[in-house]
Amino acid sequence: MNATIRRIVRYGNPVLRRKAKLVTQITPELQRLCADLKATMLAAEGLGLAANQIAEELRVFAIDPRCADVDAEPYCLLNPELVATEGLVEREEGCLSLPGIYDIVPRPEMVRIRALNEQGQPVEIEATGLLARAFLHELDHLNGILFIDSLGQMKRSLMEAKLKQIEATETQS
Ligand code: ZN
Repeated sequence: MNATIRRIVRYGNPVLRRKAKLVTQITPELQRLCADLKATMLAAEGLGLAANQIAEELRVFAIDPRCADVDAEPYCLLNPELVATEGLVEREEGCLSLPGIYDIVPRPEMVRIRALNEQGQPVEIEATGLLARAFLHELDHLNGILFIDSLGQMKRSLMEAKLKQIEATETQS
C-alpha cells in the first residue's frame, strides 16, 4: 500500500490534548492511516507514533519493536487497552511532538496490552523495558497526555522557554 509521510504535529496543537475516538470499523481509510503512521514513524526514527500526532483523532498507534531489539516488523494497534503492569523503572524519555525535550520518567517495567491488530483481530501483547515504555507513552497520547505532564513543577519551569518556542512554531504552521 502506498503510504504518505505526514507532518507530525507539535506541542501547542490542541489535537494532542484531545482524547482519541474508538475505531469502529476496518475501512480502507483506516488501513491507509495505519500505513501512513508506520511510514511517518520510520521516517522520523521514532519508537512509536500515535494517530493524533498526525492530527487523526482515532485510537491507533504505530510501534517499531526493532528499536527495542525485538525482531518484528513495525505494526499498528487499534483501540489499545492496558491490562496489567509490573515493576517500575526510571529512564530518559522524549517525544516526536516535543523536539529537543528529554527527561527521566518512571514507568512500569512490564505491560500487557489488549488491542486489535490492523486486520481487526483481537491480540494481547506483553512487553518489557523500552518497548513497554513505548506502549505506555503512545497509550498516553491517545488520552491527550504528554510525558512532560508527570514532571514536577521545578522541571517544568526549567523547560518552559523551550516549550514556548515549540508552541510558537506550531501555532504559526
Ligand atoms: Zn510522544
